[in-house]
Amino acid sequence: MNIPDDNKIKKFVIVGGGTAGWFSAAILARALLNTGCKIELVESPNVQTIGVGEATIPSIIDTLNYLKIPLQEFIKETNATFKLGIKFTDWHTIGEHYWHQFGYVGGKIDNRPFYQHWLKYKMFGGKNKYTDFSPSVAMAKKNKFHIGDPNKPNNLTASTYAFHFDAGLVAEYLTGYSTNNGVMHTKAHVRQTNLTNKGFIESLTLDNGKVIQGDFFIDCTGQQALLIEKALKVDLENWQEFLPVDRAIAVQTENLQDYPPYTESIAHKHGWRWKIPLQNRTGNGYVYCSEYCDDETAKQVLQDNIVGEMLTEPRVIKFTTGKRDKIWFKNCLAVGLSSGFLEPLESTSISLIIKGVMDFVDSLPDKNCNQATIDEYNRLMDIEYECIRDFLVLHYCQSSRTDSNFWLMWKDRQIPDTLSKKLALFQEQGRLIENQLDLFTSDSWYAVLEGMGVFPKSYDPLIDASNFSSINDYFVKYLSDLDKSVDLLMSHESFVKRVTG
Ligand code: FAD
Repeated sequence: MNIPDDNKIKKFVIVGGGTAGWFSAAILARALLNTGCKIELVESPNVQTIGVGEATIPSIIDTLNYLKIPLQEFIKETNATFKLGIKFTDWHTIGEHYWHQFGYVGGKIDNRPFYQHWLKYKMFGGKNKYTDFSPSVAMAKKNKFHIGDPNKPNNLTASTYAFHFDAGLVAEYLTGYSTNNGVMHTKAHVRQTNLTNKGFIESLTLDNGKVIQGDFFIDCTGQQALLIEKALKVDLENWQEFLPVDRAIAVQTENLQDYPPYTESIAHKHGWRWKIPLQNRTGNGYVYCSEYCDDETAKQVLQDNIVGEMLTEPRVIKFTTGKRDKIWFKNCLAVGLSSGFLEPLESTSISLIIKGVMDFVDSLPDKNCNQATIDEYNRLMDIEYECIRDFLVLHYCQSSRTDSNFWLMWKDRQIPDTLSKKLALFQEQGRLIENQLDLFTSDSWYAVLEGMGVFPKSYDPLIDASNFSSINDYFVKYLSDLDKSVDLLMSHESFVKRVTG
C-alpha cells in the first residue's frame, strides 16, 4: 500500500552548514534523487562553524563510495592524508605507547579467535603485542601506506583506512556536491522557529524576514541546538560524570617532517593532545578538564609541545559531553554537535553524523512521523552512543598515572555499569560482551585493553586443543612476512603525492 501522496515529505530543511549540515545534505540528495523531494540548507553568515573535526574512521570511505565521490578527487580537494589508526602515548604509563589499529588482526586459527591464541602465547612469555600482528600497525610504524587490490588478497588485506582532512575544505567540497545534486543553499540567520499546535516545526523565520516552510527539519546548528533544544525543548543528557573533559585548545602548525599515516594522541597531566597530519599542515589540540586546568595553562602546554610554526592563533573551544535525550523528536532530527558530543578521542563524531543520517534515510517517515519509527531510531542511536562512551572511558579508567589530580580522580571514579560488566567478563577468559551496534569491533577493544594493561586471568581452554609449538612457529613466520611486505611499500607521503599527482 502506498503512502497517500499528501502525507509524503516533500521538503526537507537543514539548518547549519558545518560538517553535519553538508554531510546531511549530500546523503539526503543522493538518497532522494529522482523522488521530487526538495532539500534546502540554511546557514548563518554570522555563526562560524566549529572548525575542528579532521580525523575520521574507515566508515568515511563507504560513505564517499555511496555518494559516488571519486576518492582521488576528494583527497586532492580536501588536503587529505590517510589514517591507519591512532598511536596512544603516555596513556597507561608515561614513556609507553600503544596502537589502536584499523582493520582486523590475524584470523581464526583452528576455528578459535586469533586473540585467544595470542593470549596463550603471551601468557607463556611471547614478546609481541597483539597489535604487532595488525598490518595497519606494521605500515604505520614504518610510515608506509598502500591500498591493496581486493581481488588479490595478501597478508596486508586485513588493513583498512580512513582520512585526515581539512574540515573547511570538506564543507566546501560537499557544498558543491550537494548544490549540483539539487540542494538549495540559503545564507541567512534563522531568527525564529515556528511550531504547529501539535508541537511540530512548521517553518523558520530568517533575519531578512523571509519564512522557510518545510515538512521535516534537520538541526545541524552545532552547539546552538537551535531547533531540537531551543525550540523543541529536548534536553542534553549530561555524561560529564563519565567523560569529564570539557575544553580544547586548537592550533594549526606547518609540517616539518613527512606526514605519518596515523593520528597521535598523547596523554598529558590534565587531558590529552592530538596531532592530525594533513598534506599542507598539522592540526594540533589539547583536550582538558577545566576543573583541573585553566585555559592559560592549557595553552602553554600546547605551545610547549607543538613543533613547527603556528599558522593560526590558539583557540579555546568549550563543550559538554553528552547525548540528546531524543535525537529524533517530532519532525526534527538532530545531527552533529546538536545531537551530542562524546569528546574527540576516537574521532567518532563524523561517523555518528553519517550513521545518524543513513539510519534516518532507512526509516524515512511520512509527514506525521510515526512514533514507533521514531522510538526505534532513538533506541538504536542510544545504544550506539553508549557503546562509544564505554570505549572512551576505557582509555582513561585503567591508567596507572598518578602524576596529577586529573589522573588520580580516575582511580575511584564510577564507570558505566555496561563497561564494568564488560571488564568483569573479559578479565576471566578474555571474552567480550559483543554488541552488534558497537562501532568498535572486538579487535579494537582488545587493542585498547592491552594498551591499558588489562589482561584476562586465563585464556579460552579450547586453545589447548591446538599444537602450541606450531602456533608459535606460525606467529614468527606471520610477523616476518608482514615485515617483508611492508618494507616493499612506498612511504605514506609518496603514496599521497602519487594520488594527488
Ligand atoms: P558546526 O560546525 O558548529 O556548524 C554549525 C552550523 O550551524 C554553522 O554553519 C552555523 O553557521 C549554523 N548555525 C548556527 N546557528 C544558526 C542560526 N541561527 N541560523 C542559521 N544557521 C545557524 N569529530 C570527528 O569525527 N573527528 C575529530 O577528530 C573531531 N575532533 C574534534 C575536536 C574538538 C575539540 C571538538 C569540539 C569536536 C571534534 N569533532 C571531531 C566533532 C566535529 O567537529 C563535529 O562533529 C563536526 O564538526 C560537526 O559539527 P556541526 O556541523 O554539528 O557544527
